[in-house]
Order: sequence, then C-alpha cells, then structure tokens
Amino acid sequence: MAMCSFLTEEQVLDVQQTFGTPVFVYDQRTLESQARQALALPNAFGLTVRYAMKALPNRAVIGLFAGLGLHIDASSGFEARRAMRAGMTPDKIQITAQEMPCDLAELLDYGVRFNACSLHQLRTYGRLRPGSEVSVRINPGLGSGHSNRTNVGGPSSSFGIWHEHIGDALAIQREYGLRITRMHTHIGSGTDPEMWNHCAGLSLDIAARLPEVRTLSLGGGFKVARMDYETSADLQAIGRRVVEDFQAFKTRHGRALKLEIEPGTFLVANAGALVCTVIDIVDTGTQGFSFIKVDSGMTELVRPSMYGAQHPIDVVRRATCDMRRATCEYLVAGHCCESGDVLTPEAGNPEGLQTRTLPEAQIGDALVVGGAGAYAAAMSSKNYNSFPEAPEVLLRNDGLFTLIRKRQTLEQMLDNEVD
Ligand SMILES: *Cc1c(COP(=O)(O)O)cnc(C)c1O
Repeated sequence: MAMCSFLTEEQVLDVQQTFGTPVFVYDQRTLESQARQALALPNAFGLTVRYAMKALPNRAVIGLFAGLGLHIDASSGFEARRAMRAGMTPDKIQITAQEMPCDLAELLDYGVRFNACSLHQLRTYGRLRPGSEVSVRINPGLGSGHSNRTNVGGPSSSFGIWHEHIGDALAIQREYGLRITRMHTHIGSGTDPEMWNHCAGLSLDIAARLPEVRTLSLGGGFKVARMDYETSADLQAIGRRVVEDFQAFKTRHGRALKLEIEPGTFLVANAGALVCTVIDIVDTGTQGFSFIKVDSGMTELVRPSMYGAQHPIDVVRRATCDMRRATCEYLVAGHCCESGDVLTPEAGNPEGLQTRTLPEAQIGDALVVGGAGAYAAAMSSKNYNSFPEAPEVLLRNDGLFTLIRKRQTLEQMLDNEVD
C-alpha cells in the first residue's frame, strides 16, 4: 500500500465512485489513537486536553473527541455554539478568540469559559462578570511556527497580552475584583519540540508573577509529519521535560499547576485525506512542465498556496487491472482560474513550484492528498469560482464509510442572496 494516507487503493476508488469528488475522508482509528496519545502526555499535577476545533470542526469529529474525554478550545463564539450543538458540555469549552463574541454574556451563562486575549478583552470581561475567575492569554515574547503566517508569539504577533504588560493585567484584575486563575500561551503551529519546551519555561516564569494562577495552558502547535522526511513531535519526550519544570515550579512557588494543552494539528492532520479526480493533463513544452489538473485545489486546501505547505500526493489508477508502471514529473494544479491554485508549491514558498514524481496519470484517475485533516475543509476558499463545498466522509473502525457532511448544492450557495 504505497499510499499517502490511511486509505488503500481499493478504498480510494470506492470513495471516488460512491461519494463523488472532491471529498474529504477522515479515519476514526487515527483520530482515536492521536487523542489517546495526547491524553497520555506525562504531567505532574493533572492534564486537560482541549481540541482546537478550528482545525476540523465537523460535528462527528467533535462528538468522537467528546466521547474520549477531550475538552474544546473555541476560536470564536460561533465555534463555542457549534461545539455545544455537537454535544460538548459548555463548561468544557474555553473561548480563546481575537474577536470577542458579542453574545459572550449568554455563553458565560451556559458555563463556557473565557480566556482574555488582550487588556481590552480582560476589561470587557471584568465589566461583565466582576469578581469571577478568568484566564489570560499571554504573549511570552517568543514565537514559533512552520512559517511566519503560523507564528502567533513574539513582537510581530498580535495574539495575547504582551508579557511586559502583566502589571496592567493585574491592575484590571484589582479594579474588577477578578481572579486570574488560569494562564495561557500558544506560540505557533508546527513548533519544534525544543522550542515548545523553551516556551514552557518562559510561561512558567510569567505564571510566577500571577499569584492566583492554578492552571497553565501551553497551547497547541505540536509538529506532525505529513511528508515522510518530516518527524512528528514526541509527546512523551516533551511531556517528561514539562513534568520536571512543573515540579520545580511547585518547589519554588508552592503551587501545583494543572497542565492544559490544545492540539489541533496533532489530533487531526494525518487523520484526513482529500480524494479528487484528474480532470486534465497538459504540458508547456520541452522546457516547461507537465501538469495534472484536479477537480479540487484551493477550494478544499489552501495550505499549499498560502504557506507553501507540503502534502503527500499520490495517483490511483482508475482500473485496478491497469498495469501502467511509468512515473512522471508533475506539477498538480487546482481547478480555480487562479495561477496560485497549486498543490505542489516549493516547500515554504507559495510563489515557487516544485514537481513531484508521481505515477503516470490519465484523466479519470483518482488523486489523493494526504495530511488533509487539519486546516483543510475548515480553512478552504469556499465557493471560489462557485464550486460547492465538498462533502466529508468518516471511515469508521468497522471499515464502513459514512457521510458526515453532504456536498453543498447550488441552491444552498445562493440561499442568502436577496432579490
Ligand atoms: C490554532 C490554535 C491551537 C491549535 O494549534 P495547532 O498548531 O493546530 O495544534 C491551539 N490554541 C490556540 C489558541 C489556537 O489558536
């Protein structure tokens, strides 16, 4: 099974036939095993794992994680409501958002928790719920991510209260009688373990200055290997070092901090595959390139055109008795009338191109893009060129494929247009 995902070639063709393309497929087995690994993170004084649901907010996925005991990190009020509708208990949902929900009071009444990401947010919360407990997101002055666009810490990032403004946060705490009992840092996506551990140390130093903090969330950002030359973060190794840091903190400050993490990518990235169909093959002459065009692209997956992100790609021939063995150097282009709609950018450079060696393709063959669970369906250029939103399918542990979101219709796309 020389495939770039959890799907066998037979399953790819089955999915292509049954559900039509483009279509996302998620693997229950991978989702569950990633969740178990996250829950097994070594910790000194307790652990909560929040699923950063913005990575893949489908109800079926949230429901599955709820069943395994995961909590939720919601990036907007809408996500909090979406999680509640998926069956997540409100007090297991925490909102960490750039934009404060306008219905925050009602969400708080349900029991949803709030993580203030700026001094303005903390003040607004204080006015709404004086005398209550709250969490603050701190920018520890250090950022990390697989690209500048996924770096959410350090001086060039607007996320969180800048670490030198802790005094202002404490003043707001006093003014409204708040109790800052939880602190949060999240510095980026695709972070190297080394950096992650370093940030944990910085975060503990800041927690030392917030005397009522009892829970420290170190965010998400655990690196996942989508390509075979990459390495995934080893959560056991990361956790063991954090255990030591938390124990040392207790010795020094007398506080046993509970640990929270908020993985998105780690839980879902490699649990998703995008199955599409080769719709055309063109070339630009002997000095040029051969292109595979597929019935998908930035309408389902913007990571390549946005970050130069690398996803594994494979071609599955339509007829299983087909004995074509040749490979070819291809660029893979999406179906949008947009030169940036490519699935094979240069690594880390969305403006560049990099060919892939793939089985020689014919129109009608299936093309599978692996690592398409996180920030894929959730972050698509939905309806660009008026292509409908792709369906989502779950490969259950019993081997059956279940539709968990239907393909959008043209009528649904036009629904809100007013005559
Ligand atoms: C996006 C996000 C995460 C998850 O990041 P991953 O890199 O997908 O693990 C966690 N916490 C917050 C606050 C986020 O915004």
